Amino acid sequence: KLEEDANGVDSASSRISFQNESKWDDHSSYGAKKTLQAWCRLSNGKWALGKVLSTTGSESVLSTSEGKVLKVSTESLLPANPEILNGVDDLMQLSYLHEPSVLYNLQYRYDQDIIYTKAGPVLVAINPFKKVRLYGNDFIEGYKRQKMDKPHVYAIADAAIREMKRDEVNQSIIISGESGAGKTETAKIAMQYLASLGGGSGIEYEILQTNPILEAFGNAKTARNNNSSRFGKLIEIHFGATGRISGAAIQTFLLEKSRVVQCADGERSYHILYQLCAGAPKSLREKLNLRKAEFYKYLNQSSCRSIVGVDDSEMFFAVMEAMNVVHISKEDQDTVFAMLAAVLWLGNISLKVIDNENHITVVSDEGAHTVAKLLGCTFDSLNMALSTRKMTVRNEKIVQKLTLEQAMDTRDALAKSIYASLFEWIVEQINMSLGSGKRRTGRSISILDIYGFESFTRNSFEQFCINYANERLQQHFNRHLFKLEQEEYIEDGIDWAKVDFEDNQDCLNLFEKKPLGLLSLLDEESTFPNATDLTLATKLKQHLDSNPCFKGERGKAFTVSHYAGEVMYNTAGFLEKNRDLLHVDLIQLLASCTCNLPQIFAAKMLVQSDDYPSGPARLSGADSQKLSVATKFKGQLFQLMQRLESTTPHFIRCIKPNSLQQPGIYEQELVLSQLKCCGVLEVVRISRSGYPTRMTHQKFARRYGFLLLESVASQDPLSVSVAILLQFNILPDMYQVGYTKLFFRTGQIGLLEDTRNRTL
Ligand code: ADP
Ligand code: MG
Repeated sequence: KLEEDANGVDSASSRISFQNESKWDDHSSYGAKKTLQAWCRLSNGKWALGKVLSTTGSESVLSTSEGKVLKVSTESLLPANPEILNGVDDLMQLSYLHEPSVLYNLQYRYDQDIIYTKAGPVLVAINPFKKVRLYGNDFIEGYKRQKMDKPHVYAIADAAIREMKRDEVNQSIIISGESGAGKTETAKIAMQYLASLGGGSGIEYEILQTNPILEAFGNAKTARNNNSSRFGKLIEIHFGATGRISGAAIQTFLLEKSRVVQCADGERSYHILYQLCAGAPKSLREKLNLRKAEFYKYLNQSSCRSIVGVDDSEMFFAVMEAMNVVHISKEDQDTVFAMLAAVLWLGNISLKVIDNENHITVVSDEGAHTVAKLLGCTFDSLNMALSTRKMTVRNEKIVQKLTLEQAMDTRDALAKSIYASLFEWIVEQINMSLGSGKRRTGRSISILDIYGFESFTRNSFEQFCINYANERLQQHFNRHLFKLEQEEYIEDGIDWAKVDFEDNQDCLNLFEKKPLGLLSLLDEESTFPNATDLTLATKLKQHLDSNPCFKGERGKAFTVSHYAGEVMYNTAGFLEKNRDLLHVDLIQLLASCTCNLPQIFAAKMLVQSDDYPSGPARLSGADSQKLSVATKFKGQLFQLMQRLESTTPHFIRCIKPNSLQQPGIYEQELVLSQLKCCGVLEVVRISRSGYPTRMTHQKFARRYGFLLLESVASQDPLSVSVAILLQFNILPDMYQVGYTKLFFRTGQIGLLEDTRNRTL
């Protein structure tokens, strides 16, 4: 069923290019308008506003606001909006809609700490990188009572609540943007608003307290964001019949496991590891033999161990407190911390080469003994699991000795696996607490905070998955804002010059087609024991080179044309990350441990059987036993999309104004590339040129019919509606009459509503 949905979407739509400015607003070239002020692009790529001093045919003289006088081609000028439109709340209100006017409007607001702006139905949020006075109870009350109406996350959350109640349809708030753009903060602000509705028995507080826990275990300092989420998250908040919060459920996606054992210089591993080292009370430190963060190899390979303005020790107490709130028992908390300590100490295990074939043994030192003690196994069994591998060769059981490299990989795989299982377990505990008593009866509002499109100098399996997810989300966005809109016009028979939108079905096909798509080919190659990163790259090139969204590169690389731009991926590590296998020896080791780990992972632990004599097995749920990471992720994604399809979506696009994580700096190019990436510009254009307000004839007649000064001969809804339109002098090009509905351009209903409110 899922498959059908994926491929059943028609891919016939033609495309327009986001980059093509002239498509923006066909009537807004300067030449046709001759405004006094105009925008001109300087040689450094920036836009400058200037006064047009003179125009002689193809040449104009412009005096810029910085006092320069420039001679430019008239054609290159774009008309500036009148000053009265400076900083409008909604980009749709701009008379001239083009890159510089949008950039300028957002910057104009940003400079005054007005970080929220509407782009038609989408909320644009620019990260202020400082505290802004826009939040808290006064604001929440203001939006609840509809005393405030400026663009805000609160307004979006409020609309979601209202529409949930009014239409009896589940809602979703979909937050996107690149790393550091403010998605997670925005999600928290939305949660804060929803939580203010209350729920009784502290459920709303519990929901808010899941944030510090998940951030401690799933966030890390990266080059782009000091508190970067390394997983995707959907939180579904449930409401009871009375409209109060009754519970919640959290789903997470694709935790970046590799960070547990390695991270780039200047970055950190997961916060909780540093917090534990810094904040564990004395008794816990002794019990877990804890040292300072810099002592641990997994943490000291990067020179960065602290974050400016963050006290890890304080955070540790906050996390413990939050764990209490979500009913994770002290005993379980201790087990969690012991597992974290085991992960840290695993990195400090020393391996000694014992022969000239590079085989190793685990050194019997503090590292290995502490790991053994924390896990509850003997040194010998740990040594065995890390230095050898049981195999079956031609029906004969043999024990293969591992080389130094293999042993290090095995050790790291164990650490990653313990950490990832711990993360999943914590999410499960949280869900049990939030969902206890099966309070899930009424409607829900889901908030999606998922990693945005990523394109680095080197892109690996993680970016591959993340960008695939973004293609899906982009399609959802497109379908809602463009496709459904047009379909509605067409269905209702109104005159509508078809607007094409960027359709990314081709790229999705490249990923999803069976058997010759990126995911299928990756999975197939993952099942071959002798496959390498290079054979994978070769295979992809062989089968996909004719696909216009794909380009084979030299060596282990290939390029995909994503909706947001081209990304070159390097297949190094793809197969291993996709298989995500834990050798049977490690599973046996974990299963034999006397710590609470086997209980904690009971559900995830694969019961060892002789069916797995030599091959690797995995430590995840039995149902997903044979699934690769990519396939599992695709399944999660389809489920997510299905869930979102049944909701009314509200979109928030977060924008990072500069890459320095500093307040007050607005980098035009950076902002523009993000606006293009997420299709904000097109949304405004389509919303503005369309008829965003619509109402059935019946509803319109009912709602405004009583305002009629003269009675109408025929009482059918359409006649009443037309009489209203005439009486209020709503001009013909401001509305369209469909078979069932009336369609209005923006702002047209306002006058009617005002009159109605005054009359009521
Ligand atoms: P993302 O989740 O998109 O990667 P975050 O939500 O973690 O980004 O935001 C990165 C940082 O930016 C935050 O840690 C915070 O310092 C700052 N920030 C984001 N949104 C806001 C906001 N609304 N007000 C103040 N600071 C913010
Ligand atoms: Mg985040």
